[in-house]
Amino acid sequence: MEKNNINWDLIVIGGGVTGAGILREAERNGIKTLLLEQKDFAWGTSSRSSKMVHGGIRYMKEGMFGLTYESVKERQKLLKEAPFLIKTLGFLMPIYKDKSPSKLSMSIGLAIYDLMGLKWGHKFIKKEKMNKVFENLNSEKLKGVFYFEDAKTDDARLVIRLIMEAVQGDSKALNYHRVNSVKKTENGFSVTAFDEGNKSEIVFKGKNVINATGVWSDKISRLPFNNKHIRPLRGSHIVFPRKFIPIDDAIGFSHPHDGRMLFIVPWQNTIICGTTDVDHSNDLNDEPSITKEEFDYLLECVNHYFPTVKLTDNDIISTYAGVRPVVSSGNLSPSQESREFILWKEDGITSVTGGKLTTFRKIAMDTLKKAGFKLKLRNQPVFNKLENTKNIYNIENSIWEKLLGRYGNDAHKVVKDKAPPLLDSIPGTDYLWAELPYTVENEKIHHLSDLLLRRVRVGNILQEGGLVHLDMIESLCSEYLPWDSDRWRNEKDQYIKFWRKYYSIP
Ligand SMILES: Cc1cc2nc3c(=O)[nH]c(=O)nc-3n(C[C@H](O)[C@H](O)[C@H](O)COP(=O)(O)OP(=O)(O)OC[C@H]3O[C@@H](n4cnc5c(N)ncnc54)[C@H](O)[C@@H]3O)c2cc1C
Repeated sequence: MEKNNINWDLIVIGGGVTGAGILREAERNGIKTLLLEQKDFAWGTSSRSSKMVHGGIRYMKEGMFGLTYESVKERQKLLKEAPFLIKTLGFLMPIYKDKSPSKLSMSIGLAIYDLMGLKWGHKFIKKEKMNKVFENLNSEKLKGVFYFEDAKTDDARLVIRLIMEAVQGDSKALNYHRVNSVKKTENGFSVTAFDEGNKSEIVFKGKNVINATGVWSDKISRLPFNNKHIRPLRGSHIVFPRKFIPIDDAIGFSHPHDGRMLFIVPWQNTIICGTTDVDHSNDLNDEPSITKEEFDYLLECVNHYFPTVKLTDNDIISTYAGVRPVVSSGNLSPSQESREFILWKEDGITSVTGGKLTTFRKIAMDTLKKAGFKLKLRNQPVFNKLENTKNIYNIENSIWEKLLGRYGNDAHKVVKDKAPPLLDSIPGTDYLWAELPYTVENEKIHHLSDLLLRRVRVGNILQEGGLVHLDMIESLCSEYLPWDSDRWRNEKDQYIKFWRKYYSIP
């Protein structure tokens, strides 16, 4: 068993948005931190969200006003601090006669929502004034739509950007290091992790440990609340081409069967429809995926509200599912369970679970405080300030802005001294070919699926996970990876098998 002699101020277990946010905040505050992730960064729920940075209008319906208020405040800060990674997204909420939500309840809800964010952006558009986009919308008993503003992001890139900016200082983040035990020592903790790359165990020393393992959190430290347990709830999505419903704004609907609120969100030339909310009893270390029942439930909702679109299985590009940890006493329906995060400290280990992508920074600061750290830089921006945003490259401005969002100041390194075809987009996407070798060289890729599902999202937005591009990807990236031709063949085979099993139509 190998020993690592650095005595870290803090070891964070879990490389989702919660762990990444804690790493980033700790680093900024001078706390030398090591993050350990069992699989890839953002492999858990944090690459499988609905991509909304939002207050959560539907949580107000469940009485979760505190969560909505915190989320709206965080959304406003993030829009300012990472303008190209977190972007304003218009939301439309059709209002039907005799159906929930009513015009009155929505108008009160949205007034409160806007007041929370200190901005007045919502309005009601009558049916007669609605534009062409709504031609396909089910108009039976339709009164009109409410318009309001929230935001969206690329969840996995949010995690990677937090981590990549944090490790520019004295901190470190290791993916494919699964923590097997945490033991208390005289001066802190010894944390034993299995390094998948070297197939060996390593012992790390740390003065403090934070467990940010989301749905796995009670495996590292048991919940000290009587009658409460972690209830894993699965949320699944379908992804289809934007041409079927060519919207720039998201739309929220109540499902015709059970009245649950669902969203369709325009994202990277596709439309994401989600989410379901069902108990998840599968092994947590297996990739979660959509069931046939969930798939039909989502398809039915799209076809109910857009009857002329007639979306079928064949139109779907991909699917994905994520598992949400909620702390439950077991009496409520999934959608009524609280989405608030929970903090606890047992045997010296501080644990955090639940919450939202949107509130990652608030969660990080509260967790560090609970662990006993004093934070000097509470109100500074969480991301590095963008130094030079001028597009001096031979690429479109809209593409350049996306690079700034994904890579921050490192966007320059992605395209500097590059020429076509590297400066061309991967067909059907807004990604440049140049991003692939850059991310392989700099962003800790261990498997092809890390590259295609979490660094760039080709696996989510292209048919068959981008299968037709795999040879080109090999030729661009092989220089930066220590893989021989057998390993490449194996990685490609594994990726295709894996994509078909977990990301395709059930
Ligand atoms: C379907 C769905 C849709 C959602 N949509 C939104 C949305 O639109 N907007 C929003 O704000 N929020 C949304 N959320 C909530 C949000 O995605 C989660 O709150 C957030 O991603 C949780 O992040 P996390 O880091 O706590 O957990 P995770 O992302 O799951 O990270 C935990 C990590 O810990 C690792 N780990 C576990 N055990 C170990 C170990 N022993 N050693 C090392 N590592 C370990 C796991 O591999 C995992 O990567 C959604 C959630 C779901 C389920």
